Amino acid sequence: MSDATSLSPSAPPPSPASPDAAAIPTADLEVGGFVPMSTVDWPDQLVAVVFVQGCPWRCHYCHNPALQPRGDHHPQVWQRVLQTLQVRRGLLDGVVFSGGEPTLDRALIPAIQQVRDMGFRVGLHTAGLYPDRLAECLPLVDWVALDIKTEFEDYKAVTAVPRSGDPVRTSLSLVLNSGKPCEFRTTWHPDLISDAALLRLARHLKVLGARQWVLQPYRPTPATQAGLGSVIRTPPDELVAQLRRVGPAVWVR
Ligand code: SF4
Repeated sequence: MSDATSLSPSAPPPSPASPDAAAIPTADLEVGGFVPMSTVDWPDQLVAVVFVQGCPWRCHYCHNPALQPRGDHHPQVWQRVLQTLQVRRGLLDGVVFSGGEPTLDRALIPAIQQVRDMGFRVGLHTAGLYPDRLAECLPLVDWVALDIKTEFEDYKAVTAVPRSGDPVRTSLSLVLNSGKPCEFRTTWHPDLISDAALLRLARHLKVLGARQWVLQPYRPTPATQAGLGSVIRTPPDELVAQLRRVGPAVWVR
């Protein structure tokens, strides 16, 4: 996944601007970052990525803690994103809304509708915190990546928030029942999820009907918490092989 790149509200407008870009109506999405071109945020798609500001969780491995707080909102940033997208119509396959937690923002749905109206396909990265808004989004998106951080009852060990796995159970069902192309993602670090828990999770996902499961190696950054160490942690091949035997199709990426 791309890291958020800040898009300052005082940055110059993209050039050349489309003549009708100024006419795009403004949703009130709180944008914390924007990557104008990415090949890694939606498999086999060339996309722009919009990072929505705000997340109430405090995952130990969060790469973008600057995206966690809300409040420093500049509506003109979303307008600039739209202007950039306007001049890239036909060059990009789609737009991914990521975060932070994009479903936190009540302007997400009108924002999705705006980029759909421009002709882009829409992808969504979510940790499943807000199932009600996710349910509203699903009919409008073409692909979803849902984080499954650990077993639902153990979420606090990763997010530092009690009972944070509860809404994710609902979100997982919503995504699976929607029939939308999707993948589920788990960041692997042996201090955060044991092999036994991962195997139980694999079986559970398979029973529920999940088909694509991506294990993401823990990658330290200056922002990740020191207790998790300063080296990349990749799941061992033997563990991955075991998971493939009992769970959905597993990729390490
Ligand atoms: S859910 Fe995502 S954005 Fe929120 S704290 Fe966890 S890793 Fe960071």
